[in-house]
Amino acid sequence: MEQWQKEDSKICLHSHEDIEENIGAVAPPIFQTSLFSFKNWDKFLEGITSEREHYVYTRGVNPTVKILEDKLAQLERGEKCKCFASGIAAISATIFTLVKKGDHILFVNNIYGPAVSYADVLEKFDVEYTNIFIDDASEIENHIKSNTRLIYLESPSTMNFDVIDLRKAADIAKSRNILTAIDNTWATPLYQKPIIHGIDIVLHSCTKFIAGHSDTLGGAVISSYDIVDEIFKVGHQFGGAVLGPIDAWLTLRGLRTLRQRLGYQKTSVEKIVGMLKDNPKINKINHPLLLEGDKKKIYEKQTCGYTSLLSIDMDFKDYDELRDFMNSFKVFKLGVSWGGFESLITSANYNKNSEDLEERHISNNLIRIYIGLEDTEILMEDLENAFKTLSK
Ligand SMILES: *Cc1c(COP(=O)(O)O)cnc(C)c1O
Repeated sequence: MEQWQKEDSKICLHSHEDIEENIGAVAPPIFQTSLFSFKNWDKFLEGITSEREHYVYTRGVNPTVKILEDKLAQLERGEKCKCFASGIAAISATIFTLVKKGDHILFVNNIYGPAVSYADVLEKFDVEYTNIFIDDASEIENHIKSNTRLIYLESPSTMNFDVIDLRKAADIAKSRNILTAIDNTWATPLYQKPIIHGIDIVLHSCTKFIAGHSDTLGGAVISSYDIVDEIFKVGHQFGGAVLGPIDAWLTLRGLRTLRQRLGYQKTSVEKIVGMLKDNPKINKINHPLLLEGDKKKIYEKQTCGYTSLLSIDMDFKDYDELRDFMNSFKVFKLGVSWGGFESLITSANYNKNSEDLEERHISNNLIRIYIGLEDTEILMEDLENAFKTLSK
């Protein structure tokens, strides 16, 4: 185990928790309060005049939520973190805070759909965007405009699992004073720390692996002190998408076992990708385990593990076959999201949206698979049975 991994392990457990102060409690207290009172007027003034630094009102800072923020900031090796009620709240608050009228956002490759849809909404404020699909980060250069303010990345992306060289993207952006943001939900802070590679802003949906049990929503932004403070001041305080103390506590509980869960799931995904590799019904498996050549080198340079969400491009003869396949699973559940205990299967093909899929560079026959924490053998059997129904 490397030194930094030991450090991460401690962060996931007890660091930033003042156990002694909390009369020995090993689980942090849930400060389920809307406001905090003060001993005297001077203390009150001190709090109310710098609300982002003091416990005044839970719409600002709350001690249970702050434990999670401090842990996530340190895990990402950033200066500061602010948590939100959901991943999309963190994303929209970040974009809303950082762009102004006349600015341009550059989305690179398969970005989480609602993030791009949010940029559509911002067109009414004269903010424009382009969504480019590129193979090499150096191509970003060709798409930068004089008004580009933000380059928004996702690597690996969570439909096609494209990988982009973060250092190269960050260097291009820095040389032109453009900010970079990345959605790091797939890799989690344990497997990829984009700030180390020069990216300015890291976003997370804590709903997925970090909380890890499909029982709460949450989001986070991590960056320099100044950038997070600005997002806190504008996007968080006016958007009001506050992470509640109980949800923060559930997320902290999830974080305790993140390393162990991901470790088990890594072994599962390796076995399952191995099993699917030569299946004649699959045209392509999209998962970083199967990267080759330069892409593999880039991946190994910036990412140090594999999580268990993947997609397969199937050889369905028609939509009915896709539907039959989706209906044939007994263990994998049909549903959105991922990162919890239960394995999930989904497709973005809703039968009437092929234009939208084409625009997003998503294949009609793409099936997304999330390998959860059930025993690997049970999952392999379920997949095998589903494929058997196909060949009938
Ligand atoms: C789920 C997800 C989000 C949005 O998070 P919510 O907590 O559902 O709002 C953002 N990015 C990625 C990659 C996601 O999978």
